Amino acid sequence: MTGVATTRAELAAARAGLSAPVVLVPTMGALHSGHRSLLQQASEIAGTSGSVVVTIFVNPRQFGPNEDLDRYPRTLDDDLALCAEEGVALVFAPAVREIYPADPLVTVDPGPAGQVLEGEFRPGFFGGVLTVVLKLFALTRPDVAVFGQKDAQQLALVRQMSADFNLGVEVIPVPTFRDPDGLAASSRNRYLSGAERAVALTLPTALQAGLAEAKEGPLAVLAAARALLDPAPLVLDYLALVDAQTFAPAGAAFTGTALLLVAARVGSTRLIDNVIVGFGDSVERGN
Ligand code: AMP
Repeated sequence: MTGVATTRAELAAARAGLSAPVVLVPTMGALHSGHRSLLQQASEIAGTSGSVVVTIFVNPRQFGPNEDLDRYPRTLDDDLALCAEEGVALVFAPAVREIYPADPLVTVDPGPAGQVLEGEFRPGFFGGVLTVVLKLFALTRPDVAVFGQKDAQQLALVRQMSADFNLGVEVIPVPTFRDPDGLAASSRNRYLSGAERAVALTLPTALQAGLAEAKEGPLAVLAAARALLDPAPLVLDYLALVDAQTFAPAGAAFTGTALLLVAARVGSTRLIDNVIVGFGDSVERGN
């Protein structure tokens, strides 16, 4: 039976009864197949003795003034049903005032890797994300937290925060889940019309075209992806090839594991996607 807590007090009472390891999956709800793959990975990690905790919270502090906070999909009943199907022990679905009884005066600074790419196009975004993740970690006290590779920069920053602040939470990545047509599952995909979805597919297609050039080096990867994106009827925020650890640009001589990342607006919907690209001896590639 999946328990549901909506207040910090209810969460504390329910958390006291959970058996270890406690595996946390933080989400903004509107759960889809991508989230389901995180829940499945979380239950594998929890094993038969442990517990999976899911948080569902649309965090206002990570939305800019012109972003989609008000229209972000909220589907709590369906989300709870999906969590029950996946054997989640506890869902924490608080109101905004439970998480922010007052505006926090102390917030998390995401550092240099939080200033580029998503951090550049969404000022304040990672400060908002890391602040809420730190609060959710403090409230749920997990042993392990599971995050999606789909939000690669977020994953890297949460992992860095856990290490830098000695939070003792092991951050485990889950590969990007894609619909059969190749589009990365996202709560925002439900905004897309049929025609817009066809355009949105340019993102994974361009990433795959880039990946296919990995043997030719970083510049060939970027050129192949750009050749597909440039003519597409979308507004490209960025296409970038970066070191997967530091998020510094991966230049012509780069060797090791890189990320090829793209962000674009299709109509009024902003989408992001990425693939891992290995150069030199590194062979890790995909997704
Ligand atoms: P969100 O609800 O969008 O904040 O996402 C919650 C978690 O699910 C984050 O760790 C995301 O990276 C992850 N996630 C979202 N979409 C996908 C996907 N298509 N594949 C894997 N993980 C995902």
